This record gives sequence, C-alpha cells and structure tokens, in this order.
Amino acid sequence: MSEVRSREHLNFQAEAKQVLDLMIHAVYSNKDVFLRELISNASDALDKLRLESLTNEALRDAVQSPAITLERDSENRTLSVFDNGIGMTKDEMIRYLGTIAKSGTKEFLRLLKEAGRGSDPEALIGQFGVGFYASFMVADRVTVISRKAGTSETWKWESEGNGGFTLEPAERDSFGTTVTLHLRPADEEDGLRDYTEEWVLKEIVRKYSDFVAYPIRLGQETLNSMKAIWARPKSEVKDADYDEFYRHISHDWNPPLKRIAWKAEGAVTFDALLFIPSKAPLDLFIRDVDRGLQLYVKRVFIKGDCRELLPDYLRFIRGVVDSEDLSLNMSREILQQNRQMELIQAGLTRRILSALDEMRTTDPQSYRTFWKEFGRVLKEGLFLDGKNREKLLELCLFKSSISGEEWVSLEEAASRVNGDRKEIFYLLGEDRSVLEKSPVLEAFRSRGIEVLFMTDPVDEIWLQAVDGFREYRLRNAAKGDLDLESLSGKEADRKERDEAEKRLRPLMDYLKNRLASSIREVRLSGRLTDSPACLVQDERDPSPQFAKVLASLGREAPQTLRILEINPVHPIIGGMAKMLEESPASATLETYAELLYGIAALAEGSLPQDAPGFSRRLADLLREKVEPGSGSRKDALSE
Ligand code: ADP
Repeated sequence: MSEVRSREHLNFQAEAKQVLDLMIHAVYSNKDVFLRELISNASDALDKLRLESLTNEALRDAVQSPAITLERDSENRTLSVFDNGIGMTKDEMIRYLGTIAKSGTKEFLRLLKEAGRGSDPEALIGQFGVGFYASFMVADRVTVISRKAGTSETWKWESEGNGGFTLEPAERDSFGTTVTLHLRPADEEDGLRDYTEEWVLKEIVRKYSDFVAYPIRLGQETLNSMKAIWARPKSEVKDADYDEFYRHISHDWNPPLKRIAWKAEGAVTFDALLFIPSKAPLDLFIRDVDRGLQLYVKRVFIKGDCRELLPDYLRFIRGVVDSEDLSLNMSREILQQNRQMELIQAGLTRRILSALDEMRTTDPQSYRTFWKEFGRVLKEGLFLDGKNREKLLELCLFKSSISGEEWVSLEEAASRVNGDRKEIFYLLGEDRSVLEKSPVLEAFRSRGIEVLFMTDPVDEIWLQAVDGFREYRLRNAAKGDLDLESLSGKEADRKERDEAEKRLRPLMDYLKNRLASSIREVRLSGRLTDSPACLVQDERDPSPQFAKVLASLGREAPQTLRILEINPVHPIIGGMAKMLEESPASATLETYAELLYGIAALAEGSLPQDAPGFSRRLADLLREKVEPGSGSRKDALSE
C-alpha cells in the first residue's frame, strides 16, 4: 500500500463530538429509531441519484433497481444498511459525517448545557433529531463504505464515536453507501434490542418506514408496502403512520401539530399531505436554508425542498404534493414559471389558511401553540400577499392592554370598540412589559379603550401596508394628535382643554425653545392621566421601532424630532408654569425642563438624548432634597 493510500485519522468537529457523547451515553430511550434514521438517509440518497440522473447524461443508466437492503450477521453482531443511491466522496464523508452543519445543533447544545443537570436530554434530542449519529446509541463502532455515483473511488469511514474517525480507501462493486453497525450487546432493560433478529428488524421497518418509496429488503423479502401514504384512503391510515411519515420527510422527531390531507380537483388535480410542525425550527428566519414541500408527479418523486409550491410566509409547512398534471421532467426554470405551479400554490395557500381558521375556532389551544411558534412568519403575508390579506388579518392574534395572558383577535378587538369611533388602537415596541407601562396608555386605560401590543419586528412593516381591518381603521396610539376628549364627545372636556391651552401657552413656548435640539413641538396631551409628559409622533413620522428595523438592515433612518406632549392637569406642569411666571430666567426651571424631557423618553423605554446629563441633573435634584442648599444649583447653572 502506498503512502497516499494509507489510513488517515481525523477529529470530529467539537459540536459533533458533543452530540456523539450524548448518543453513546444513550439517554434516548427509544433506541429503535436509529434504523428509521439510516433508512431515511438511504432513501434521500436514492432520491438524489434519481434527480441527478435527469440532468446528468453520465448517470442516465445509473438508476437501475433502487433499493435499500438490510444485512444481518448474528455471529459477528453486525447490521448493515446498504443503498445504491448517490453515495459520498471522501470530502463529503468528512463534511457530512464529521461535522454537524445543521444550524439548529449549536442551539441544541446550548440549550442542553443551559438546562444543566435538571434537563431532560431525551426531550431535547426528540426536538432536534440527530440523524446518522443515532447509530451510536446501538453500536460501539460504525463503518461507512461509500462510492459517489459517477466516480470510481470508494472510501471507508470508521469511528468508535470517541473523538475521531478514520478514512481509508476501500472496495465496493458499485456506487452507493453501506453503513455497518457493530452492535453493542442486547440489553432489553436499556431498550437495546437484538438488532440481528429478523422479527425485530421487520417490526421496526413496518412501524417507522412502511411508506418509504423504495423497497427495503431483508433476504428475499421486501419489508415495506411502499404505498404512497397520501394516495391511500384516509380510513386505512392510522394517525401514527401519518406521524411517522411526517418524521421521515421533516427530520423532526416531534409529532406534528396538525395534518392537512387534501385531494384537489378542478383547475388542477393533485394530492397534498401537509403538516404544521409543533415547534418552529431555529433556522426559520435564515434565508437560504433548504425548505419547502416535496413534489411528486404521478407518485414519482421530482424534488424535495420545492419552494415554488408555497409562498414564503408559509415556509414552515412540511409535506408532499403529488400532481397529476405536471410533466415528469420539469426543470427548475420551468417550475418557476409554470402556470400549473401558480394554481397549485394559490390552491394550497387557500386551503392552509382555511385549515388555520378552522383550528382557530375549533381548537383554540392548538391554535395558540401554532401562533406562538409561527405567528411572526404568517404576519409576513400581510404585506406580501394582498389577495389573502383579510383572511390573514383574521388569523392574527395579539396581546393587549386588557387581555392579560389571553390572546386577542382583531375581530374581538373590533367587537369591543364603542360607538361609531371605528378605530382599533395599537402600540409598537420591543417588549410588552415596557408597553404596559407606557404613559401613552394612560388615557386609553382610564377610558377603557383597548390597545393592542405589537412587539414583533415584522409588525412595523405590515402596519405600513395595512390601513385597517374590515371597516375599522388601525391607529398607532402613540402617533398623531389624539383627541380622546372629542371622541368621548363631552363638551365640558373641550372647554377645559381650551382654557388649559391658554394658561399653559407660555410654558409650552418655553419648553419648545429650551428643548429645541431634542423635540420639535410641544402640545397638550389627551393621552395622559398620571404621567407629566410623553413623546409622540406625527402620523407620517417613522416610529423609533421602524428606525431600528432600518438600522438592522444597515440603512439610516431619516432623523425626525419627536413631539413632547404634556399633561395639563399634572402638578409638575402646573408648578413649572408658576415658576415661569415668577422667574422666567430660573436655572432650576431649565433643569426641570431637561428632566421632564428625560422622563418622557425613559417612560417609553428609550434614552434621553443626553443620558449622562439627565442622570447628573437627577442626582443633583435628589441631593438638594436630602441636603438642601448643597450647591447643586451652581452645577445646574453651569449647564
Ligand atoms: P440529516 O440526514 O438530517 O441531514 P444526518 O446526520 O443523518 O443528517 O446525515 C448527514 C448527511 O450525511 C446527510 O445530509 C447526507 O448528505 C449524508 N448521508 C448520510 N447517509 C447517507 C447515505 N446513505 N448516502 C448518501 N449520503 C448520506
């Protein structure tokens, strides 16, 4: 054997090592699932080869009789899973079997670590799935021999799961992959069965992999029915079968939250079997991750991760679409421009939205789970899919100023709007607890008017595109001149306000002058009852949240100064008006003006422009309180 052909030792990537450790110490009680994972990988490899052969002339004859073969050897205690799929090159083995590329895994490990001793690793493993590495639950050595289709090199990868793996050249008659497990001794108590027993293997395959589209053979026998689960009469298929199918296509170990089985007939004919996961994947907001449905044409697999089948805001849906109308050899370009695809997409979208609506009304608890996991994604549809906007608005849930822990739909919020003031108010912010305490809410609270909290980044964007829900206008509670008095229609309120306006005019002018670098206008507030002041904006101004969204996209937000609203009946305001009358040049009054602005900024959760200055002035004020005549006035003067 020459130098180049000798064995190489390589190390696992740190994350892979951690996952392996976990597998070897076998915390997952249902160890049988290792076989499901290996079969799933083999089936994917066969799909890939079929797909590749459509465009690669050299592989045209490669797909002869695709199959997955199990080989058991009781004497040597090994189990092999053999496929004649796409195979792996040496580099691919290093990459796919030596590192963990899934973006969720780092998060998984972080959670595991964070949860510490009291954690339930089993639940976490179930939530993330660990694919190939599950082999190490049942084997103390795993050998993978693979030859990539279209190449002549075969490589052998081997590992005992501790730290590293070896690679060396090997022999294989044809392309494909063989995974051989050197099994640990059976230990029924530990859930470790004898995986060289024929009946054990049969049972596992029937349970987890019956619908796999390729024959799974053991000796002369084919163990699975290979029936396309979506094409079988619903009455024949058990819930558990559907769940296993979901696991197979999604690589998610959790059962799905909801299933939608649909036979569409009309402009286009297709079967769809769709699933809503019970948990959002961690890469839901990463753009270029593989996602989408599997596309079949007349039971033949065409492609996975078919994004063209659903709008982006439904990217969390998993499943299969099997069309009768599409052609079998569709290329990517054709898929993108195909009229049939558009019809399928529109049909699926409508069907999914109505399934969600049904879930909302008949199974509110599941719907809430759905909303918590995927609401943020669904809301993207509000600005991307004008056609379905009304339906999507009906599906949206919010927390509100009066909802407590409950969720509120726009319909419910609308039903609580009194009189003919056809307006639903909302408040934007990052954090509900900050919004709850916002001074802007005071007048709404005291008048019993509900305000919805918009705390997802996407809210800022769709609210720019959506004016209202049904006949109700959606209005930002922190924007514009809010005349709640006139809304309440009380003449007395109106008069009182006019008087206050006259009385406080000098103070308002003073504040506007004094705070010119931070605000652009001062006015009386219809919003406040307990706080002295708050910051608001004009209807057309971009909100501070929007500025943050722009900043996160690397773009600069247009600078607009805010409006300071003051509470005419607040003692601080009254006191300041009096000070101004008595000594217009008072340094204390100047300090108070700065503090008033700072209080308003802090109350909405932002910082005053000169935060250190604010802090110092406040400290001086306190010092003056506890130690009158302490000289704070001098500091204030030098400001
Ligand atoms: P997942 O299948 O969830 O991506 P795995 O850890 O099970 O994760 O597998 C990692 C990768 O190794 C697969 O994505 C695939 O590229 C490759 N792989 C695993 N088994 C096979 C196989 N039998 N044939 C070809 N490639 C395989």
